Amino acid sequence: MFAMHTWNCPRCGTSKTRLAPRRGVTDHLLGALTIYPVRCQLCAHRFTTFLGRMKTNPRRNYDRVSVQYPAQVRPTHDPSQHVVVEGILSNLSLRGCRVRTSQRIPMGCQVMLEFHPAEYDDPIMIDGAIVRSRCAEGIGLRFSSLLRSEERRLRRILDLRLPDHAN
Ligand SMILES: [Zn+2]
Repeated sequence: MFAMHTWNCPRCGTSKTRLAPRRGVTDHLLGALTIYPVRCQLCAHRFTTFLGRMKTNPRRNYDRVSVQYPAQVRPTHDPSQHVVVEGILSNLSLRGCRVRTSQRIPMGCQVMLEFHPAEYDDPIMIDGAIVRSRCAEGIGLRFSSLLRSEERRLRRILDLRLPDHAN
């Protein structure tokens, strides 16, 4: 059911994992035994591990890495396809990102995202994302759909930047 002191992801083998938020009664009971949920940052697999000491569970499932990539956001339902929000992608995880921009997009808006990592010649395209937060500096997006090929390239960026076994 749980592994002893295991931090590497049992599904994909990476060391890019981190302590995850608790959910439900079972996690709280296991927490009393210092058995904690861990989230793989590259394949999203969730597993439990025996820590042997008390820790505070974080509120986030995914670490966001700091980046500076030019980005374009397009509302999906814009019939003209002409609305383009330009900005800078400032942080990134497997499940979402933040875009610094002075332009406005409403909360809950469905968008497509394109950004240009320094590592690649071609931009990464996120087919579906939703505006989940807004602040003076920009917007927070949660990814809802992306192609496997794009997810692979996204993982490679994260793999280079994420810490090992964050807790
Ligand atoms: Zn994994």
